Amino acid sequence: MKKRYSHSKLNTFEQCALKYKYRYIDRIKIPEKSIEALLGFVVHEVLEYLYQEIKTGRTPSIDELITIYSNIWQDNYDHKIKIVKKELTEKDYFNKGVGFIVNYYMQHKPFKDNTLECEKRIRIQLGENNEYEIIGFIDRLVYNLDNNEYEIHDYKTANNLPTQESVDNDRQLALYSIAIKDLFGKEKQVNLVWHYLAHNTKIQSKRTNQQLEELKKEIINLIKQIESATIFPSNKSILCNWCEYKSMCPAHTNYSLGNI
Ligand code: SF4
Repeated sequence: MKKRYSHSKLNTFEQCALKYKYRYIDRIKIPEKSIEALLGFVVHEVLEYLYQEIKTGRTPSIDELITIYSNIWQDNYDHKIKIVKKELTEKDYFNKGVGFIVNYYMQHKPFKDNTLECEKRIRIQLGENNEYEIIGFIDRLVYNLDNNEYEIHDYKTANNLPTQESVDNDRQLALYSIAIKDLFGKEKQVNLVWHYLAHNTKIQSKRTNQQLEELKKEIINLIKQIESATIFPSNKSILCNWCEYKSMCPAHTNYSLGNI
């Protein structure tokens, strides 16, 4: 049976091996959601709805999108959702999402960029005997008819705006471009496009086939490192504030649990 990984799973190991152990080895489920995760989920749902409607030949109005946004938010919000930034309220996050949708809509209408699919599931086989499988979802796949390039679009709802150097080294969309080239041909050009909604801007990057081959090797090495790990040390960082295991994590208590 194939060993299955995702960008998020690999990322979790790199961020904190103990969190990886809790989530993917011990499979401890903590029903805790952050307000940032809710915001990201709802905005992605609305933009998916928008482009699915565009594909049928109908352009929803901005009012319709805000109504849908509001309904999905209400269906998914509950008072247990964690708000780490105490100076902000649920209303602040809700309004932030409204701003993202309105700004995106105004900037991109009439949305004629030849979207092929939304939430496209991808699979990549890696390893000498294809023993590893990487799975993921592309927010939106476009075929740009002006320059005959595929485009992988990804929506970001975080506040930070990365540098060009940082996106040129981003692993997630580069991985997805391997899947698109596997499907449509290695000679196809694939443009990676991140929409930073808080800044109403997009950043783009490309990878050569050689860079993608290097990336495959790096990922196989990382998977081997994960599979040979016998200890899973904690790694305290600012990200602990959003970690669902913080209340049980020995790095945040005054006592040690010994070998973790
Ligand atoms: S709280 Fe921090 S150190 Fe503990 S498991 Fe989570 S990310 Fe790791």
